Amino acid sequence: MANEDQFKKVISHAKEYGYVFQSSEIYDGLSAVYDYAQNGAELKKNIRDYWWKAMVQMHDNIVGIDASIFMHPTTWKASGHVDAFNDPLIDNKDSKKRYRADVLVEDYCAKIESKIEKEIKKAQKRFGDAFNKDEFVSTNPRVLGYQEQINTILKRLGQSLEKEDLADVRALIEGLEIACPLSGSREWTEVKQFNLMFGTKLGASAEHAMDLYLRPETAQGIFVNFLNVQKTGRMKIPFGIAQTGKAFRNEIVARQFIFRMREFEQMEMQFFIKPGTQMDWFKHWKEERMKWHLSLGMGEDNYRFHDHEKLAHYADAATDIEFKFPFGFKELEGIHSRTDFDLKQHEEFSGKKLQYFDHEDNASYTPYVLETSIGLDRMFLAVFANSLVEEELDNNTTRTVLKLPAVLAPTKAAILPLVKKDGLPEIAQQIVDDLKWDFNVTYDEKDAVGRRYRRQDANGTPFCITVDHDTLEDNTVTIRHRDTMEQKRVKIEDLRDIIKAEVDVKHWLKKMQ
Ligand code: ATP
Repeated sequence: MANEDQFKKVISHAKEYGYVFQSSEIYDGLSAVYDYAQNGAELKKNIRDYWWKAMVQMHDNIVGIDASIFMHPTTWKASGHVDAFNDPLIDNKDSKKRYRADVLVEDYCAKIESKIEKEIKKAQKRFGDAFNKDEFVSTNPRVLGYQEQINTILKRLGQSLEKEDLADVRALIEGLEIACPLSGSREWTEVKQFNLMFGTKLGASAEHAMDLYLRPETAQGIFVNFLNVQKTGRMKIPFGIAQTGKAFRNEIVARQFIFRMREFEQMEMQFFIKPGTQMDWFKHWKEERMKWHLSLGMGEDNYRFHDHEKLAHYADAATDIEFKFPFGFKELEGIHSRTDFDLKQHEEFSGKKLQYFDHEDNASYTPYVLETSIGLDRMFLAVFANSLVEEELDNNTTRTVLKLPAVLAPTKAAILPLVKKDGLPEIAQQIVDDLKWDFNVTYDEKDAVGRRYRRQDANGTPFCITVDHDTLEDNTVTIRHRDTMEQKRVKIEDLRDIIKAEVDVKHWLKKMQ
């Protein structure tokens, strides 16, 4: 299947089987905003739990918090988001200087404007007192030509910005042969819009309302709580603070389904370390996070590291774990050595010390931070897209199967009475009632059993348990495995252990060791 077709199939399967819906679909949706449906919410929760257990439960020195989406607005001044994330920016590759793309174009227009001024001055001189400026600018062909040029350029700029067509803003800059005022070079990078933060207001009266932002990353909630957690948890460096939660970015290029959303969820961990040890920890967390991904068995070849050459202002090392999505290798998780930038900035803006007293060294210092940051929605897409397969069967038919790692599957088992009579539904219901204490299970009696198997395959359910007439005699049932389609006769009383062996978090996370 071509990649594009595969991706279309992923999107339609996600809808058809109750995983992901477009937000407010009855109103034609909202761009790059999605809702998780009944199965999607379970899958998402299971991914979140799998991350949380690996990061928090399995580490004595990592604790979790749940900070608010709203934060004091100064947070975003300190973090740099207010100043650096506001405009469509373009870099000159030679001078490495950064410009506002719209300002470059406007400056270009201002130069044309000055040519008009020159024409006016020349004419004034020539015609003396008889000069009528209004008439001149509305009739002189040269002035009209310049004005037309300005109008065309500004119109195109306005439309491109409106449509968020940043490629066209760049094309405009290149087409006009705008050069870097510093180096004279015309080698430009892509235009990037950094106006990512959503603003809102706190307070009822317009006069006293305070401008707030919806957080564009969860990390800052951890930095501002660093000392509170360190003191109340009596944490000793090195230690980590983890958190999962919503983040909001007014993304300019928002497409590719849930890969890039305006409202999304992050799973982040900030690891506080002694300055100078960051490269060792960087290596450690790179390995550790890759092991977590590989534990899910989604194929080693589907992952790769992409080390950053161009580093963000706060980082001294950074890498992405990229995953092979249906549209190619793309960032799934970022691992960043953030130095002491954030804590230092918060110290400066709050006037409060955010230092750690190291008893071993008998000295205080601002810790360095190693961050792991993964998008929950992107992880969802990676898991979902990778699991969806069309399988050719021996009898020349195909089946659609969602081979979700069993630990993440929304429903672990479907209990199916072979027929809707002879007491079989009652036994099946009894099995559901017993198993639901431990797992998400479902009951299904509609259609022939073969069709029910297919339905559960497409839904990603790892086990189907069929109750038939033999069950009445010997208390055994047939258990069918989703991936192998293998069927076995087992005792009802053994079901719990059989399922647990395959869906238990421990069974999967152990692979990391
Ligand atoms: P990208 O370059 O793809 O925009 P980023 O470098 O801005 O991502 P980070 O700020 O490092 O991303 O955020 C950490 C993680 O959060 C990313 O690796 C990604 O999984 C996730 N993420 C970031 N932006 C979005 C978004 N708009 N929608 C969904 N997930 C996102």
